[in-house]
Amino acid sequence: MNLTIHRGSHKIGGSCVEMRTGKTRILIDFGMPLVDEKREPFDSKSLRDKSLAQLKEEKILPDIQGLYRGEPRGIDAILISHSHQDHYGLLDYANPEIPLYMTRGVKAMIEVSNIFIHHKSGKIDAQVVRSWRPFTIGDFTVTPYLMDHSGPDALAFLVEAEGKRVFYSGDFRAHGRKRILFETILKNPPKDIDCLLLEGTMIGREEQRYADENAIENRMAEILTETKNIVFLSCSSQNIDRIVSAYKACLKAHRTFVIDLYTAFILSKLLKISKNLPQYKSNNVCVMYWKHHADNLVNAGYRGLLFVYKENKIELPEIVKKRDAILMIARANPDFSRTLKDLGDVKGAKLVYSMYDKYLTDGFKAKCEKKGIEIEHVHTSGHATVEDLKAFAAALKPKMVVPIHTFYADKYEGLFSGVKVLKDNESLIL
Ligand SMILES: [Zn+2]
Ligand SMILES: [Zn+2]
Repeated sequence: MNLTIHRGSHKIGGSCVEMRTGKTRILIDFGMPLVDEKREPFDSKSLRDKSLAQLKEEKILPDIQGLYRGEPRGIDAILISHSHQDHYGLLDYANPEIPLYMTRGVKAMIEVSNIFIHHKSGKIDAQVVRSWRPFTIGDFTVTPYLMDHSGPDALAFLVEAEGKRVFYSGDFRAHGRKRILFETILKNPPKDIDCLLLEGTMIGREEQRYADENAIENRMAEILTETKNIVFLSCSSQNIDRIVSAYKACLKAHRTFVIDLYTAFILSKLLKISKNLPQYKSNNVCVMYWKHHADNLVNAGYRGLLFVYKENKIELPEIVKKRDAILMIARANPDFSRTLKDLGDVKGAKLVYSMYDKYLTDGFKAKCEKKGIEIEHVHTSGHATVEDLKAFAAALKPKMVVPIHTFYADKYEGLFSGVKVLKDNESLIL
């Protein structure tokens, strides 16, 4: 078996791995870069108006024969580990005849993003795979493993062919609401792994302030109890663990969780996967209608949902009246700015910033400060700590550990045994 990391051997974001036998070629993930060559944030808008040839020329699209639209098809399948853009975001450039494989939750989240975000990945016509159920593609047998991550229904893959076994960790952690998945793999790890492709997002990053999702929930509940005005929450609504933490904190502190249409839509999409998630009609949940979200839903043919969610719609006067009993989703967008203006005096209010620190822009920060809103960071990563990565590698006992999804491939050597650092595009024969 031949293995090539087309992108991701030395960076976080834009992961793309190819595995090949004499007969079959598969790709795992086809992500959009998160940073450019200078490690500055990658702007997906820069993809617009560029031809496929140009994007290849600029190395935004990796040079993979038989992958792209308009070329003879040479790839037998693309497997998507999870619904973060840095793992699937370039799919719209792939030849649409190549079969896609992903979980139901991942498919649902990609459909949501296609409705609400700028960069669309086109219609996703994917084969739905189920955790721990092996499937075959030509010479390959693939077993998906459900993982604990900040995106729902995320997978790792055990890939077998020609007597070799590769484990692709995907993005994962051990401190979310599904930590049991990590513990289960540790107790009963896949055996005889020749090569472990191991993500290392947290390698080289600082210690986390909050150990796990429970700590997040507890701190949020404290903030909701202490604060005498409205509390805002900035988080990714596709981070379902976090939405659940916020919801539970609201229950503890007797506040209403005011979600936007985008969040309401995500939660209804995931209802089929988990019946326990909060929904727009849960007791202490209300839905606010921002115009651009409503427009997005209407344009995607979901006008009917605007009537469905209306059952629990909250209007501004009610938010103003009940401000000290509300946790409200906040986003760096014009609709939120208008809401802030309409809310009037928000001195003493708090904004819980629940994403990676570096995503907080100076502009948004300044806007909050000007209004007298105090920002508190309450976040824990979607990625495993170095200790958990070590425990994971120790349990799997692979013959070889290959760094991926990391800025610090050079640090693996001091942490794991059998490290083999690959360069992007370098082929490894197993
Ligand atoms: Zn990632
Ligand atoms: Zn991820």
